[in-house]
Amino acid sequence: MNRSWAEPWKIKMVEPISVTTREHREAAIVEAGYNTFLLKSDDVYIDLLTDSGTTAMSDRQWAAMMIGDESYAGARSFYKLVEAVHDVYGYEELIPTHQGRGAEHILSQILISPGDVIPGNMYFTTTRYHQERAGGTFVDVIIDEAHDPTSMHPFKGNIDLDKLAAVVEEFGAERVAYVSFETNVNLAGGQPASMANIKAVYDYCSQRGILVMLDATRAVENAYMIQQREAGYEDSSVASILSEITSYSDGATVSSKKDNLVNIGGFLAVRDPELARKARALLVAFEGLHTYGGMAGRDMEALAEGIREMVRTDDHVRSRVGQVEYLGNRLIKFGVPVVTPIGGHGVFLDAARILEHLDQDEFPAQALAAAIYVDSGVRGMERGIVSAGRDPLTGENRRPNLELVRLTIPRRVYTQSHMDVVAESVIEVFNNRESIGGLTFTYEPEDLRFFQARFAPIAQDA
Ligand SMILES: *Cc1c(COP(=O)(O)O)cnc(C)c1O
Repeated sequence: MNRSWAEPWKIKMVEPISVTTREHREAAIVEAGYNTFLLKSDDVYIDLLTDSGTTAMSDRQWAAMMIGDESYAGARSFYKLVEAVHDVYGYEELIPTHQGRGAEHILSQILISPGDVIPGNMYFTTTRYHQERAGGTFVDVIIDEAHDPTSMHPFKGNIDLDKLAAVVEEFGAERVAYVSFETNVNLAGGQPASMANIKAVYDYCSQRGILVMLDATRAVENAYMIQQREAGYEDSSVASILSEITSYSDGATVSSKKDNLVNIGGFLAVRDPELARKARALLVAFEGLHTYGGMAGRDMEALAEGIREMVRTDDHVRSRVGQVEYLGNRLIKFGVPVVTPIGGHGVFLDAARILEHLDQDEFPAQALAAAIYVDSGVRGMERGIVSAGRDPLTGENRRPNLELVRLTIPRRVYTQSHMDVVAESVIEVFNNRESIGGLTFTYEPEDLRFFQARFAPIAQDA
């Protein structure tokens, strides 16, 4: 008999949530300009907007916060964090920041000169923003399968080495600021890269003097996928796979609000002391002194414990990814089009296929996210044409192949029953999909527009 597994924890403290009425939610989504980012959390029942900073910390992490050292300089908590990052990720030099984008800002400023190119696997919103802000041009070199939501490729996060080589040939190795290699690619649907690919990219780059900088924000989930899918790794621990991943890199940016199991924090970590020196020079201007960056001592304590906890045994990540797969498989069973294989941190609804009657300029994913909220109070997020923004040179909308609604599962927060409620709502909305109309902008911010944009339903002809 196939035996069930369960979460490797029990609940010690609870936070009440409340169900709202449909009328209340209809008013709330209008108030929010049909943008789930602008909803108040009190109006949300099950919050799958993001898994960023929404983690439930453990009793050990809460206990660690009490012994945080709040000294301005040289805090004990900082050295604990340095040790944890070194033990788990293998990097010597730690630059602590307030969250992932703080690290991306500093990395981009020290490595990118105007006119440089930064090849990367798909893109992440804040990562690309900082690369472009530093005068660089991001070039997508992910394998084609990543842009196909129906492809069952087990490693859709892989870099296409031919595409990478073409960029290096066109611009020359000296114009390539670094290769930006994201683990478990967020916007592709939480899709991993294989160890073989990570190693091949590193070998190719180090022969040409090109740095490889990981976005290791979701490297633990990537390591787990390698254990499950790549031959030769089935008996390796997630911790040892993670160490091998990072060994094929020159440094990493990490948003600690994801894998690292804390509500705020992040870091840049590198091997080269000279690079670290340059990073610290900016750190003190933009984040804080080099021994706390953007974090309080107690934040660094909780983070150091979170980093150890995420790989102490494999049970944590297995149950984390297992819960995501549980939700995804329920939706697949009822015929809802989702990105496959199910990714590490969320289920990505294929809004382009669900709302076939809408043009991409009518923002199908934005409209679908709003419809699910109105149905049940479940909050997801648009990851499609709105998130992709406009091309800085032409001013035209970028038109990504992927037009998705992301239902992101916070770590250690919701139970299987919550997942059942989410599945039932999505299935209900899917069955009534013809009734969902398109949206148009009423306010479009210049930068990272998805966060604060406002929309209204497109007027229907009578
Ligand atoms: C969340 C995230 C970031 C940005 O980190 P913040 O902590 O939100 O600033 C960067 N890359 C990836 C892959 C992420 O998921």
